[in-house]
Amino acid sequence: MPQTLLATDRFPLADADKCVQCGLCLPHCPTYRKSGDENESPRGRIALMRAMIRNELPLTPRLETHLDRCLSCRNCEAACPAQVPYGRLVDDARAVVAANRPETWGRRVLWRWAVDGLLVHPDRLRGVGRLLRGYQRSGLQAIMRGSGLLRLLGLAAVEAQLPPLPKLKRFATVYPVQDAARGEVALFVGCIARIVDQPTIDAAIRILNKMGYSVHVPPAQNCCGAVHHHAGDRQGAQRLIAQNVNAFKPTEDMPIITLASGCGAMLLEYGQHVPGREATDFGLRLHDFGAFVEDHHAALLKNTATYLDGVAVHDPCSLRNVMHSAKKTHKLLSRMSTTKITKLADHATCCGAAGIYFLTQPTMSEQLRHDTLQAIRHSGCHTVVTSNIGCALHLAAGIASQHLDVKVIHPAILIDRVLRLKG
Ligand code: SF4
Ligand code: SF4
Repeated sequence: MPQTLLATDRFPLADADKCVQCGLCLPHCPTYRKSGDENESPRGRIALMRAMIRNELPLTPRLETHLDRCLSCRNCEAACPAQVPYGRLVDDARAVVAANRPETWGRRVLWRWAVDGLLVHPDRLRGVGRLLRGYQRSGLQAIMRGSGLLRLLGLAAVEAQLPPLPKLKRFATVYPVQDAARGEVALFVGCIARIVDQPTIDAAIRILNKMGYSVHVPPAQNCCGAVHHHAGDRQGAQRLIAQNVNAFKPTEDMPIITLASGCGAMLLEYGQHVPGREATDFGLRLHDFGAFVEDHHAALLKNTATYLDGVAVHDPCSLRNVMHSAKKTHKLLSRMSTTKITKLADHATCCGAAGIYFLTQPTMSEQLRHDTLQAIRHSGCHTVVTSNIGCALHLAAGIASQHLDVKVIHPAILIDRVLRLKG
């Protein structure tokens, strides 16, 4: 008889039982497509979760691996006729796993030092960002990359994702416009993105100002909590949710704009993770940047159609399956271009970034990125536009490793360039 597991009470078995095992989700699951293994499919994982919760199957490292290999891309949810809320199931199953497994040294280091010790401390992150900028500019980066030491230390994958860092700054609390004809918006700037992607944030602020919005950047905001949530750390996620809900309270009448769909998918569903009206209202105020511009301000781009040959759009899973804004971003970019903006072939799959998946599941992550890089090659593009910083860093590192002459940018950067070009 398997051991009785702790913390199974919150697992929504009734939702898992909605799965009628039809298998329609299987061809949409990136890990099943790669492995051909039922245990690496949505249907198989749901069966494993049910058996684990019902105490019919012991929680073994193998079972844990099958759950960990899920990307949380939620392609299966989009394909499921029975509306099984797979994303919630896998996150809740991981919370059960987290409550029952022994803590290993590696996990303690990753979690206590990198996640709880750094990711959720914006000041410490900024300090590390400054050190990393020094590391890049001093030439030490080139020496370390050439020495093979990064690989020995297990840091090669994460270091490869580091883009050239600009001079880091603190964001102002508000970027006002004289004639705020449209009103005010609040901007979510995330944790890693505010260090590694400041040009995108600057571009978005310029565009929103140009549209007639004053832009507020609540200073007490923090990491969205997605890394904690998807790893089964409910308490850690709830702490960050409470912090962000409070941080955005002074802007409570304003739409909240996010520039990273991976964060956006988490922010949108705050109401599912903590009880109370405030968290739900937070999600209701949330907009992806591209969708917000397309929905409200397409007129701004009316006379800007430009020759944007060689631009391809990458659809992050979080934008497509959770924020449901991928079509809007494509429409927006198409509106700006006199030539066809292509979507990458097989765009409805996952590039393998998936939060920290590229670190925890490097083999599957690499296989999936390989396919996306093939699609980039075949498209013949010189610029890939994506709305998620995690995908952008992951793809850019792969592009660099293959010596392709392709840039990866956020839609805000492209729109900003076009608007500047058109004066
Ligand atoms: S499509 Fe839905 S109901 Fe069918 S097997 Fe997949 S999760 Fe279950
Ligand atoms: S979330 Fe993605 S990887 Fe996980 S089971 Fe569903 S389709 Fe497969």
